[in-house]
Amino acid sequence: DPGPGLEAALALIADVPDFPEPGILFKDITPLLADHSALQAVVAAIAAAGRGADGRPVVDKVLGMESRGFILGAPAALALGVGFVPVRKAGKLPRATYAVSYALEYGEATLEVHQDALRPGDRVLLVDDVLATGGTVKATVELAEKCGAEVHGVAVLMELGFLPGRETVGAVPVTALLTV
Ligand code: AMP
Repeated sequence: DPGPGLEAALALIADVPDFPEPGILFKDITPLLADHSALQAVVAAIAAAGRGADGRPVVDKVLGMESRGFILGAPAALALGVGFVPVRKAGKLPRATYAVSYALEYGEATLEVHQDALRPGDRVLLVDDVLATGGTVKATVELAEKCGAEVHGVAVLMELGFLPGRETVGAVPVTALLTV
């Protein structure tokens, strides 16, 4: 249940029509990021997805997807008292990686994670800003599983409810602070 602070924070997300191409309504989180209390409220709410009923952290790592998942995921990891693992676009990570490719509207994308970033049995929370088609989250779930980790859940600021993101993600619980 979003408190008034969280509601005000999410209201700062700006709609930008026809970016990056005609027909796309881009959700711009930069006004929210620029506001300290809004940033604090959403980071706390995202971190809550990595806590049990007693409020204690139940994850060993936070995984953030390039690049807005880095901005939200790293402070969420600090709030939980755990480490942060970046999931990056192909060719950015310098050591041995696992890679997963997935279809985009036009073409294909590849995400990578360092092979030694997670230990078998680690419980992980995935963090990104927007859940759209779910392709990014699904690929990241597969990366975590290649590492032998267990995905506790996915936390996003915003879910585009008119797209089949949740179905694509499958059995992994999704926490969306806002569904539009
Ligand atoms: P998807 O893989 O389709 O779920 O897309 C999710 C990724 O694309 C996330 O990393 C988002 O940052 C970005 N994204 C997709 N759609 C939008 C949108 N309408 N506004 C802002 N970011 C978006």
